[in-house]
Amino acid sequence: VTAPGLYLHVPFCSRICPYCDFAVRTARPERRERFVEWLLREIELNRGKLLGADTVYFGGGTPSSLAPGQLARILEAIQTHLAVVEGAWIFLEVNPEDVSVEALRAWRGLGVRTLSLGVQSFEDRVLAFLGRRHEREQARRSVRLAREAGFHTVSADLIYGLPGQSPAEWRGDLEEAMRLAPDHISCYQLTVHHGTHFGRQKARGRLQEMSEDQQAELFDFTHRFLAEAGYPGYEASNFARSAEHQSRHNRKYWDHTPYLGLGPSAHSFADNHRWWNCRQLETWEEKLDAGEPPVEASETLGPGELGLETLMLGFRTYAGVDLSRFRVRFGFDLLETSASLVERFKDEGLLFLEGDRLKPTIAGLAIADRLAVSFDLAPLTLSAARS
Ligand code: SF4
Repeated sequence: VTAPGLYLHVPFCSRICPYCDFAVRTARPERRERFVEWLLREIELNRGKLLGADTVYFGGGTPSSLAPGQLARILEAIQTHLAVVEGAWIFLEVNPEDVSVEALRAWRGLGVRTLSLGVQSFEDRVLAFLGRRHEREQARRSVRLAREAGFHTVSADLIYGLPGQSPAEWRGDLEEAMRLAPDHISCYQLTVHHGTHFGRQKARGRLQEMSEDQQAELFDFTHRFLAEAGYPGYEASNFARSAEHQSRHNRKYWDHTPYLGLGPSAHSFADNHRWWNCRQLETWEEKLDAGEPPVEASETLGPGELGLETLMLGFRTYAGVDLSRFRVRFGFDLLETSASLVERFKDEGLLFLEGDRLKPTIAGLAIADRLAVSFDLAPLTLSAARS
């Protein structure tokens, strides 16, 4: 049995980026301290649930907006109440402007093993467009210092597919990343969400998203370039120098391992059941104040939904879908029920069979969801209707 994962959402940033769709806000130190007090309360309220996590992910938001002492109190509480295993793999997302030799030493002292740096770009023009506070030099310095500090894995997040971005510009960012040699790279395509500053700009015709074709071209280029440079992809947005640097925490999301998410907007999953916390910080606090779980809603996934998710998540990873596991879990053979579809996708260069796995090509990875919904999952829907 795989141990569960634990996610902790820190909802603060020093400035809100124009494309950000997360539950975040700016806050003064007193506000952040109050949040820590409430988070400790939520941890206590979950005492005994999903015990023994072996990965702990501080995400957000900007977890480096909390002081090391506050992070230490949170870590102590999760050990006491949730029996997080000794030596659990701790991930910390940080922004380049928060990186200093002292901060790195403190994070190392807390047991952080993967430090994930929100670099986004090494181009000042792009950083300004994305509304980031740091500049190219700070981004470079943060990766260098983090590597010298001796973390097991230093990861750099980059964003691509910006309006008007040429392949040469994006290539420049990747080449700069290669020179700094992090252990892991995440490359996310810019998505313009409603309700964000970019979303409003787009509605007014002031921002034009990159076309789907251009996005697809850059996606393909990214995967090939990084593989050649020694960073093979293992998921649509994630690349690692070697398997030991791949994210142990995210893997739990991709294969339906149980995980507990705490903090505003955090999601949890266990036993075919998914639930998520109130997004608003105040609502989350009010519920906790009333001694209630700060959960906004929950859903129980039937076999049809679980089967579809298994395909969607599987086709987003290089490992693809494990066909024997699928057979054992859902009681039918995907290759038998969707034989002609699999043949068609193979002919179109989207999927291929390797041993007992149905794997996506790079072109398949880019449209994982579209592939997944094409499969015939009728046997599952029928079994759900009967139960
Ligand atoms: S740093 Fe990340 S979480 Fe914070 S506002 Fe920017 S995109 Fe959102």
